[in-house]
Amino acid sequence: MNDLYYKSTRSNKEKILSSQAIVNGIACDGGLYIPSSFPKIDKPFLQLKEMDYRQLAFYIIKKYLTDFDGEELKSCIDSAYDAKFDSPLIAPLIKVGEVFFLELYHGLTLAFKDMALSILPHILKVSVSKLNIGKDIVILTATSGDTGKAALEGFANVDGTKIIVFYPKEGVSQIQERQMTTQEGNNTYVIAIEGNFDDAQTGVKRIFNDKEFNRILNDNGYMFSSANSINIGRLIPQIVYYIYAYIKLLKLGEISSGEKINVVVPTGNFGNILSSYYAKKMGLPINKFICASNENNVLYDFINTGIYDKQRELKVTSSPSMDILISSNLERLLYDLCDNDVDMVNGLIGELNKSGRYEINSRMKNKLGDFYGEFTTDSETIETIREVFKDFNYLIDTHTAVGYDVYKKYIKAASDKTKTVIASTASAFKFPESIIGAIDSKFRVSDKFALIERMAEITNKTIPKGIKDIGRRKILHNTVCKQEQMKSVISEILGL
Ligand SMILES: *Cc1c(COP(=O)(O)O)cnc(C)c1O
Repeated sequence: MNDLYYKSTRSNKEKILSSQAIVNGIACDGGLYIPSSFPKIDKPFLQLKEMDYRQLAFYIIKKYLTDFDGEELKSCIDSAYDAKFDSPLIAPLIKVGEVFFLELYHGLTLAFKDMALSILPHILKVSVSKLNIGKDIVILTATSGDTGKAALEGFANVDGTKIIVFYPKEGVSQIQERQMTTQEGNNTYVIAIEGNFDDAQTGVKRIFNDKEFNRILNDNGYMFSSANSINIGRLIPQIVYYIYAYIKLLKLGEISSGEKINVVVPTGNFGNILSSYYAKKMGLPINKFICASNENNVLYDFINTGIYDKQRELKVTSSPSMDILISSNLERLLYDLCDNDVDMVNGLIGELNKSGRYEINSRMKNKLGDFYGEFTTDSETIETIREVFKDFNYLIDTHTAVGYDVYKKYIKAASDKTKTVIASTASAFKFPESIIGAIDSKFRVSDKFALIERMAEITNKTIPKGIKDIGRRKILHNTVCKQEQMKSVISEILGL
């Protein structure tokens, strides 16, 4: 039907179909898989605007999973975007003042990671059976807080899989930690790392690329795959909601067909914003990609100077899911910026691994023109939450607040009137200890789980079912290890 295939950002040798790319997770050469070309949105937006989320997801994802038949994909979509989501719209678009918040947190774990991780396990399962792999898949995941829980929820009790999640002990919110350590399921393993997210992610990547360890795994009937956004199966479902936001704006009469919009994305590993970039490559009219960082502002520096420099202290902020210095998916953007020059990508990543820094050439810098990068401090974040709640009676979480504050800085700098969609990446209920102080002047530190109830009271909202009673759930996981011990922990779990 068409000749789309997947290849690595670091070489041109491998050419594989989507099912194989999703099962592999990461390319043999350590690079990331990308589609060989970007399929185009080939229906008028005025026609698309009548679609619901599932229909649009089918239309878009089908273009990428070319070796899936319609029935297979439809069943994945129906199992993913169902009543697990507490809004039938799946991703409601809410107008607040002059901007539109795209609420991506209505899934089970209250963060946007559910948008892709509700479907990835189903896609992976179909892929495994298509390829006759005959091995159990071990999903190895590093998390800055939200991916871990969303992946655990997605893969719990899925036959033929085990899921092992590593999270930074001091780097996630209390609710995030409790969500993970109370995870049920006969195939779920949660381990805290003494270190930060980058330590966990680097450790996981190293294990993926450890040929000898992979051989041992293989001999024991296992195979690794990834639920992190290095897996292209995470990015494809995320393209859908940007197009969904667009057709909703159209339906609301806020824009006319073909009119450009801006997107604001609170960014860490660069997966979410890259999906919006891919949506543009498919034909979605996006004017600016507004990349919002917290005080770990490597991407702000990169977008403004062309220099990526991870040599700095990682800060623990109130937006922990963005506490990242090595944004993995930037490699996919680099590939695009240098017109698919794998030698260039290899050179830059090589420098990053060797010296912790690289600089792109002026031609690549010029192609960054569609991006705007800014950052927000922790105190600005809390102030933003307070203001938005006071002015609009609308509660945003710390990550979304970073996005909103950066948007305000953008407007000040650019006085741009383009309609703007802000990716609202988590529910405020996930970060009560940071948020309560912004909205409740009588706030006193009390039981952290009681804070959730207080928040519900002030905002007049019901506590999302994903965290209701979380304080009373039994802790089922309590292993802590050092980065060097990750391999032996895995060996123990798998009985190698
Ligand atoms: C993961 C996460 C982000 C960062 O998304 P990336 O795709 O890693 O850039 C932002 N906000 C929240 C709430 C998240 O969970």
